[in-house]
Amino acid sequence: MPQRAATIVGGGIGGLAAAVALHRRGWRVEVLERAARFTEIGAGISLWPNALHALQALGLARSVRALGAVERAGGVRDRRGRWLSRTDNAELARRFGHPLLVLHRADLLRALAEALPAGSLRPGSEVSGVRHEGGRPVVEHRGGVSRPDLVVGADGLRSAVRRALWPGAPGPRYAGYTAWRMVTEPLAEQPGEGAVTWGRGERFGCTALPGGRMYCFATASLPAGTPSAPSEYAELLRRFGTWPDPVPALLAAVPPDAVLRHDLYDLPPLPSFVHGRVALLGDAAHAMTPDLGQGACQALEDAVTLAHCLDSTPDVPAALGSYDVLRRPRTQAVARRSARLGVLGQLAWPPAVLLRNTAARLTPARATLRAMTPVLGWTPPGGPANLTENGGG
Ligand SMILES: Cc1cc2nc3c(=O)[nH]c(=O)nc-3n(C[C@H](O)[C@H](O)[C@H](O)COP(=O)(O)OP(=O)(O)OC[C@H]3O[C@@H](n4cnc5c(N)ncnc54)[C@H](O)[C@@H]3O)c2cc1C
Repeated sequence: MPQRAATIVGGGIGGLAAAVALHRRGWRVEVLERAARFTEIGAGISLWPNALHALQALGLARSVRALGAVERAGGVRDRRGRWLSRTDNAELARRFGHPLLVLHRADLLRALAEALPAGSLRPGSEVSGVRHEGGRPVVEHRGGVSRPDLVVGADGLRSAVRRALWPGAPGPRYAGYTAWRMVTEPLAEQPGEGAVTWGRGERFGCTALPGGRMYCFATASLPAGTPSAPSEYAELLRRFGTWPDPVPALLAAVPPDAVLRHDLYDLPPLPSFVHGRVALLGDAAHAMTPDLGQGACQALEDAVTLAHCLDSTPDVPAALGSYDVLRRPRTQAVARRSARLGVLGQLAWPPAVLLRNTAARLTPARATLRAMTPVLGWTPPGGPANLTENGGG
């Protein structure tokens, strides 16, 4: 069979992972990225065992693990700093085959980009349109026009590919809360355990990164677009500066101009992720709230599954049909679950907060882990490490 060509729109985690998966299966790939560079600024990312299984299938689990930190344990605290629940990372790894890994997003993107032939990365190539002509996809972008065998729309929450081919699909919906993300300077004493502290309509979380730094995130229930004055950092100090240890010390170690803020959106479920020879993947298909830390993990699963389907079924539209069947119900269920957790996490009415915290305190750690099996227990179709080239990963 002549070498098949794929155009991937968007060079985030999902797009780069799809490109790696297809490249390893013998496809010629080009990644069209709007931005001038393939990188992300500022924040950390949690990769759960299901994501590490996907990276293993791409032959990258070992190198990505070397870039991240694995904490001993993590859990949830109440507003006074008392533990409500704790998860032992070793138990997580025993149960699901990998631990929870936290790394800087830029490091993950670099690892994915380095697994691709240099010529396949096309920064500064914003896509303006996608259509089918005579049964084949046509992609218009700043660098010209591409006519590949397959298009992967991995261009995020406000996907141009989705808008072009799913014109009736509803747009992103605001989840009702906003999020801040930041990375501290290296700390003399790094907290040994990550934690999310649940307040009333507010949360603050932290987890270790390599090099003594901590990745921190915070949320607050607010109308979309509410400005922070005089700065995001000042707003964080005002809201969280008196929270229990280690929150004040962490905030003191954050460079004030390095705070990212994003209002949080998810995507109403799409009736299909595929259209002819075009497949949506990652946030373009199923943007979800970050409450389960699964958006990028699901994008990595999508990438591995897409390549598997295209390998097993040479006919592209038929293969994409299998991809849709395997990915849509799962990702939409994970998105629903994440949204439910977000509603719980953002509760503000004191009796509801008390009930939530009591339920969390009374739930045994084993039961919490068991309940995560449908999300974390995923393994790649075709068996683990099925794309590994060198037996490693
Ligand atoms: C606060 C927060 C915390 C999170 N924490 C986690 C976590 O811990 N773990 C986890 O798994 N997930 C997490 N997520 C979710 C995760 O960030 C996303 O699910 C993931 O980044 C989606 O990757 P993607 O490649 O699908 O989309 P994106 O990362 O949005 O990438 C899309 C790419 O497409 C490019 N693009 C857009 N339009 C065009 C165009 N027209 N032409 C060309 N290129 C275009 C963009 O520049 C971008 O590079 C979090 C999200 C948020 C908001």
